[in-house]
Amino acid sequence: MNLGCDIVLDCVSIYKDGLASPGTVEAVNQHLKKCHECRKYYKMYDSINDIKTKRQRACTSSSDEKFAELSRALKIRRNIFAALLIAFSLVTAISVIFGIITGKKKAEQLKKGA
Ligand SMILES: [Zn+2]
Repeated sequence: MNLGCDIVLDCVSIYKDGLASPGTVEAVNQHLKKCHECRKYYKMYDSINDIKTKRQRACTSSSDEKFAELSRALKIRRNIFAALLIAFSLVTAISVIFGIITGKKKAEQLKKGA
């Protein structure tokens, strides 16, 4: 099948993305082999597409890194809060137990003294 330049230019994006049918791929290939202008357009389209893809990857990876960094910071903050909560609970429990023991001793001393 012989395609005109306008049809080939319309097909470049689906050809490049691998969405064209085998017949269209073959027809575009044949046209690109013999038509310098369409080959030039295809190379330009290809290079622009590569830049777009690289830019998208860069944006995605930088946002992933920011998310991972934020996640690490939140995890550290959560662990510090949990450690402080445990320490406060232990101090409170020890104070209550110590208060009960010294209270009983004072009560026994008062009973003996009375
Ligand atoms: Zn052409």
